[in-house]
Amino acid sequence: MSRRQIKTRAEDYSRWYQDVIAAADMAEHAPVRGCMIIKPWGYGIWERLQRELDDRFKETGHENAYFPLLVPKSLITKEEEHVEGFAPECAIVTHGGDKELEEPLYIRPTSEAIICSTYAKWINSWRDLPILINQWANVVRWEMRPRLFLRTLEFLWQEGHTAHETHDEAAEEVRRMLDVYADVAESVMAVPVIKGSKTASERFPGAIDTTCIEAMMQDGKALQAGTSHDLGQNFAKAYDIEFQGRDGEMQHAWSTSWGVSTRLIGAIIMTHGDDDGIVVPPMLAPQQAVVVPIFKGEEQAAEMCADAEAIVADLRAAGVRAKADTRDHLRPGAKFFEWEKKGVPVRVEYGARDKASGNAVIKRRDTGEKMIVPLTEVASTIAGLMTTIQAGMLAKARAWRDERTFVCDDYDDFKSRVGDGGFFHMRWCGEAACETRVKDDTKATIRCIPYEGDDDPGACTICGADATGIRPIFARAY
Ligand SMILES: [Zn+2]
Repeated sequence: MSRRQIKTRAEDYSRWYQDVIAAADMAEHAPVRGCMIIKPWGYGIWERLQRELDDRFKETGHENAYFPLLVPKSLITKEEEHVEGFAPECAIVTHGGDKELEEPLYIRPTSEAIICSTYAKWINSWRDLPILINQWANVVRWEMRPRLFLRTLEFLWQEGHTAHETHDEAAEEVRRMLDVYADVAESVMAVPVIKGSKTASERFPGAIDTTCIEAMMQDGKALQAGTSHDLGQNFAKAYDIEFQGRDGEMQHAWSTSWGVSTRLIGAIIMTHGDDDGIVVPPMLAPQQAVVVPIFKGEEQAAEMCADAEAIVADLRAAGVRAKADTRDHLRPGAKFFEWEKKGVPVRVEYGARDKASGNAVIKRRDTGEKMIVPLTEVASTIAGLMTTIQAGMLAKARAWRDERTFVCDDYDDFKSRVGDGGFFHMRWCGEAACETRVKDDTKATIRCIPYEGDDDPGACTICGADATGIRPIFARAY
């Protein structure tokens, strides 16, 4: 146990995860098991993440719209594979007011059904295409093993739904949005990811290709951080999205869907957190710097707090999100710990001695480094540090992942090591039987077949048959 009442990662990683969320005051469990109350510090991170994503969606030509939470049973059951995939985790409304409903209503587990059936009405001609729409919403999937942020019964997300004239255009859209996700993961969340395609057995129900970004958490487990699906014409056929083509013939549209959720906050915690709490990347921190004035007695308090507010004004003018912690019922040490647990990138300490010497003390959360800086340079130093810290966090996470990534040609070796975590690149023959065997033997799955990597031909590491193509990543996952 660390001094912050947080289990260390080495002691119990899963308990550490819960402890740091509580210590940072980000979220808590709700009365309904699996539901989550997102508190201001957690929601503030989500809001910034939303803005970064939303800006990029708009830059790539998308608009936001909103579709309803309740979906009639007759609609959701139209795409057979889709409903089969989601049925076990659907919540269904059977009563409205005090009357039993004639037709049960599904609470959306995802919105393909309602959106595709609406697109069928909007699309008549090739001139109506493409449709590029995103929705910010909540969805419900009945989750039996919930964990805050990572797996909750109700979660917040965005879901993009597009329809196109040709498969080429749809496939291009799928990759474009995967690239957007990878960019946000790396440049905003400082979480390195690998882009690739899922195998057939791990695909989104109803998709012809599911692409994903996969990240490695500090315990060596994989976390699927975002998915972008090529739905082919499956949903267009199920929901009658037909249009008159340039040749005058009626044809089905090609559709895509793509999404990321509040699970990304779990990825940030498990990529950057340490035994003292979470560490928030500067681009997502609701406050990037907190100034803590150190004072004794009321008279000194007024003076030091006024100075602290002046430092905050300088920081804001330099483009840094900052606040002064002027609370007088807490000792400075308690405030330091609190902001450390919340993962604020930089803390500024300012006491009587600093005032006399015209300096302030800056402490970085990511490295623990302390520096004494003249008051006139505090704002510019911290503004510069935001870029340094952001880049440093990504580099550290990438090095961590690369150290735990292995090329493996011996199945017994894999079996003995996969429990310690890590990404294992093994050759694979492409047969689902080998995937199943790995899962049964080790609980590991193919996380993705990366778009870039070794494609040295050879024997499938699992069964010995011929294996071609890029080596998939095998790992245990969240
Ligand atoms: Zn095989």
